[in-house]
Amino acid sequence: MKPPLESTPHPAGAPGASPADLPKSRLEDLPWKKRSREKADFYVDCVHCGLCLAQCPTYRELGFESDSPRGRLFLMRAAQEGTIPWNSRIADHIDLCLGCRACESACPAGVRYERLLEEAREAIEEHRKRPWTERLLRSLVFGQIFRRPRVLHLAARALRLYQVCGLRFLLRRSGLLKLLSPKWSELEQLLPDIPPARRLLKKGIRYPARGERKYRVAFFTGCVMDETMADIQHATVEILQHNGCEVLVPEGQGCCGAVQSHSGAFAEALRQMKTNVGVLAPLEVDAIISNAAGCGAVLKEYGRWAADYCPALRSEAEKVSAQTADISQFLVRIGFAPPEAGLEKRLTYDEPCHLLHGQKVSAEPRRVLRSIPGIEWVELPNADQCCGGAGTYNIMQYELSMRILEKKMKDIASTGAEVLATGNPVCLLQLRYGARRFGVPVEVRHPAELLAAQYRLGRKP
Ligand code: SF4
Ligand code: SF4
Repeated sequence: MKPPLESTPHPAGAPGASPADLPKSRLEDLPWKKRSREKADFYVDCVHCGLCLAQCPTYRELGFESDSPRGRLFLMRAAQEGTIPWNSRIADHIDLCLGCRACESACPAGVRYERLLEEAREAIEEHRKRPWTERLLRSLVFGQIFRRPRVLHLAARALRLYQVCGLRFLLRRSGLLKLLSPKWSELEQLLPDIPPARRLLKKGIRYPARGERKYRVAFFTGCVMDETMADIQHATVEILQHNGCEVLVPEGQGCCGAVQSHSGAFAEALRQMKTNVGVLAPLEVDAIISNAAGCGAVLKEYGRWAADYCPALRSEAEKVSAQTADISQFLVRIGFAPPEAGLEKRLTYDEPCHLLHGQKVSAEPRRVLRSIPGIEWVELPNADQCCGGAGTYNIMQYELSMRILEKKMKDIASTGAEVLATGNPVCLLQLRYGARRFGVPVEVRHPAELLAAQYRLGRKP
């Protein structure tokens, strides 16, 4: 795919300027408080009705109350109130939770499960005694790789080198990796093919609207998506340009904090929020666009995070949350142009949990996809159920993740779809892996890629 047509560097001092231009205190030194755990606030909302159980993938697989939302809430509340300690037995049940938030959508009492899970994971990390190797790895991952975009970039380059220098081919062909660790040999296949550095979307750039400028938006690029799925990033900018948007891709933005908050490293997640709010809040834009369901869901939580932990940042964080929109949501909101070129394929859609349950965005991606002329649309059975990817879940809980994935792939196979669309990087990787592992002949694509390709075909003379 070609990069967007014209691009101009950001003028100095224009919206989207690097955070280095902002007072340092705006970004790093704002005080943050720890929320009191004395009150069992949200736990008391649970009326134990059990309506969430059937929606919970781990309860469906394991059948234990303690691996259901209601059971986990009971354990979390007991630990929070001091009836039982935050020990490894509780941790095991909390660790098995995918954080998919299907229970929230099912709950008639409005229990904010995600919020309680964040707190529980943080409390567990405070009490958990990890071996020094794990502590070192966590500090490397959360304190370096996901905090510093430069380090993430170098890690991605090292991975690319491994993939293109022949070492990957050798390890796979010889079966050596499988011999050393069958599990790591499988996990290695979950990795995306890293694009060359020249293909990555450039930041600190203003991509002009195609034709008359109707909107000005900022693109939140995320971290993993940005380093590993360059084509999707370019496609996102391209479809925004096609629909009259000037797109700012600000320098200085970083990981949204999702991985950290889901792993009990909440202080690191707040640090990421401060960095991103420092970059995004000053922008004069109509919307902040996310093309990754997980990132969008977290950006929409920034206002709440700031209110709870960093009140000094609250108004700016709330502005960022209010302006954030998933790409499909924004396209529908502005009345996007349907593509002219047709695609003669059978197409289905799997809902990323953090788009459906986290952002409550469900109809919009379908409207975008169904606007493509010529497609044969087929609804995916159980599209609202998690694929088992769930951040790092497929690495940390590989066996259970694969059980969940196998069911998802059976559903996909039953549709006979040639193309499956989904709008989240981990879901894309998980489902592509699932297609290979379970032999389902389906191409897994991001909706932005599909739409951009049809726009491009439609522009050809
Ligand atoms: S977040 Fe998902 S896996 Fe966790 S309890 Fe809720 S439904 Fe179950
Ligand atoms: S649906 Fe809500 S109220 Fe009912 S058991 Fe689950 S969390 Fe509690």
